[in-house]
Amino acid sequence: MGDMYADVIVDISSGQLDKTYQYSIPEQLLSVAVMGAPVIIPFGTAKREGYIVGLSGEPKIAVERIKPITAVKEKGQVIESQMIALAYFIRENFGATMNDALHTVLPVKQAVRRVEKKTLVADAGMDVLKDALEKAVRRGYAAKERLLRRLISDGELLWETVTGELSISSPTVQALVREGIVKVLVKESYRNPLTSLLKLNEGEGEEKSLKPLPPLNASQQKIHDRIAADLSAGVHKTYLVHGVTGSGKTEVYLSVIEEVVRAGRQVIMLIPEIALTYQTLLRFYRRFGDRVSVLHSRMSAGERYDQSLRAKNGEIDIIIGPRSALFTPFERLGLIILDEEHEASYKSEMPPKYHAREVAIERARLSGASVILGSATPSLWAYESAMRGEFILFTLKERAVPGALMPTVSVVDLREELAAGNRMIFSRALQEKMRKRLLSGQQTMLFLNRRGYAGFVSCRSCGHVMKCPHCDISMTEHDNGTLVCHYCGERRKKPATCPSCGSKYIAGFGTGTQKIEEGVKKIFPEARVLRMDADTTKKKESYSEILSSFSRGEADILVGTQMIVKGHDFPNVTLVGILAADLSLNSGDYQAAERTFDLLAQAAGRAGRGRLLGEVVIQTYQPDHYAIKSAAEADYEGFFRQEMAYRRALSYPPVSHVMVVLILSVKEARADGAARLIAGAAGEFIKQNGLCTTVVGPAPASLAKANDLYRRMVYCKETDYSWLTALKNFLEGYILYSEHFKNVNIQFDFDPVSGY
Ligand code: ADP
Ligand code: ZN
Ligand code: ZN
Repeated sequence: MGDMYADVIVDISSGQLDKTYQYSIPEQLLSVAVMGAPVIIPFGTAKREGYIVGLSGEPKIAVERIKPITAVKEKGQVIESQMIALAYFIRENFGATMNDALHTVLPVKQAVRRVEKKTLVADAGMDVLKDALEKAVRRGYAAKERLLRRLISDGELLWETVTGELSISSPTVQALVREGIVKVLVKESYRNPLTSLLKLNEGEGEEKSLKPLPPLNASQQKIHDRIAADLSAGVHKTYLVHGVTGSGKTEVYLSVIEEVVRAGRQVIMLIPEIALTYQTLLRFYRRFGDRVSVLHSRMSAGERYDQSLRAKNGEIDIIIGPRSALFTPFERLGLIILDEEHEASYKSEMPPKYHAREVAIERARLSGASVILGSATPSLWAYESAMRGEFILFTLKERAVPGALMPTVSVVDLREELAAGNRMIFSRALQEKMRKRLLSGQQTMLFLNRRGYAGFVSCRSCGHVMKCPHCDISMTEHDNGTLVCHYCGERRKKPATCPSCGSKYIAGFGTGTQKIEEGVKKIFPEARVLRMDADTTKKKESYSEILSSFSRGEADILVGTQMIVKGHDFPNVTLVGILAADLSLNSGDYQAAERTFDLLAQAAGRAGRGRLLGEVVIQTYQPDHYAIKSAAEADYEGFFRQEMAYRRALSYPPVSHVMVVLILSVKEARADGAARLIAGAAGEFIKQNGLCTTVVGPAPASLAKANDLYRRMVYCKETDYSWLTALKNFLEGYILYSEHFKNVNIQFDFDPVSGY
């Protein structure tokens, strides 16, 4: 073996994380000089500390100018080392530069506005204070008297109180300081964004005092006890809590968190940003008070850095936040929870396109912590891992509030509506149920699941959908009337009549929330309607404004996209209408059915959250599709079995793994050329290594052009993840040393959660 070299970063918080220096690794340090190891190195004339962020066998400068590492520091609980090791894991498994990965995991120093807290406290015993008070009264020093009386009763006075309410002048205070009776304290305190968030909403009349845990029911208690037993035995595992909406998962998290905190360890609670509502935060605040903090996208970089310092200093025990909260530098991390584990937002859309689930499990492994994944509709990935015995599975089948029932679900066949002459998007059954709600003063939510909608073509008479014969995914219609498969590039002319039943009602599916809103107003002119979609929520606040207005009963009907499915509880909503379940069922990627099942189950979970029984109407052209049938019957296991059979038949994840190489360029010819070269190079690598990896494409992405960039993709399927990452490493090298990739941006995405 030749000499080994390490890239060492010296100032980890500077933000210039790519500024590394190369050192050689002496023979005796080879086994300990690993990624992330803290090292001592000669730096100029002095010795400095740094971290290893890269390893290679290639010197970057003349060998005689490279100095050796002096020593590797004992590896202990050094959080920086752990985070660098985590960056390396991300870099290896999800494809990104080490620099991008480091920027993802390490907090970068930012100018922070600290809050100073100035107070006045006693500097002597109570008897001295009382003597001084007596003296002030005797001599008629009114100001001194006011101050001392208040200090004796309150113990500590805010500076604002001293100068404001008590109107004590500075010389008076100075005199008392000189006498050794009081002293002024200035504390620098980091702000807790959670407390300010909750203060902001004051006046909603809610109790913010700490509350003890209500007793868990038997099923909840069982989960708690098992995890608590593992914790106290020092056993660290990944648990999957599969519980219907409202089954009390959050209550279980709270009780387990309490155990972890009691044992002196810290907790990361991941929640999709959209579910990070006032009510959720309040629940945590009531249990844990100031020991909880929050991260969210509206916080500035400085505020985020602030929180990471507070975490590192041990000022907080629990952080709540979206994906990025995973990198909170807790030194005594004991537990990571991912609520709504199946949510696509846990996957980063920017390189490194890491998935928070897998990174959470790795972080927990590095710090000896446990992981809880929770969902009403677990991802196939998580449930399959649990089936294999890799995760421990718990199931909560009923709602936690005694007497709360699951809603009744009915499926409406839109083909029959057409046959009966109803061309509206509202079936007769749905209209009837809406009318009833209007009469009784209850509320309705109408839901158009456009997420992932990519312009599929289907038959209104028989429900037939145009699919790619090779990939079994819906084809997308392009302007010129061509249907394209975005995995393999297959093209077909759009047929004039349905190939299945001959009907001429074969077309793209065009409807939007605005059209629905107009439709509702036409049928029910007296109804008060609110609409929530990307257009009506451009401003940050409008999202919660619309929801709270609806929650206050200021509208009868809320029309919206998948945005309305999450978060708030509306006790007065007793009807949820899913207008076209087909929209997400035909989104043109292999996860269409899984996404549809999730959306339907979550939407159904919105109905009947209060005392009133809820009803759900699912409208569709494919009432026999297993995703729709099992969602209507709230049968997750049934869905899982059928969906796994489909994934197995076509070797889609989690049966095998997919790597998408996304090729972006402003020049179309360049994008095409680069995509062909990548597909060719991948084929070569596969042949050389005797692999069975399938390479599909190149093909134009579903969004073939966006932001002036042409988008092409090459799609690789392989059962062994490590061969897929080896292929990625090979392609990275190829791209780096080839002439043909100038002005071409190439991104890797492993097991993508959304279409391209
Ligand atoms: P999930 O996280 O599964 O949606 P939550 O923990 O939010 O469920 O619980 C749903 C509702 O049931 C909440 O209003 C919660 O206060 C209540 N709840 C949870 N556990 C219990 C329990 N053991 N007894 C009574 N009510 C409970
Ligand atoms: Zn047909
Ligand atoms: Zn295809």
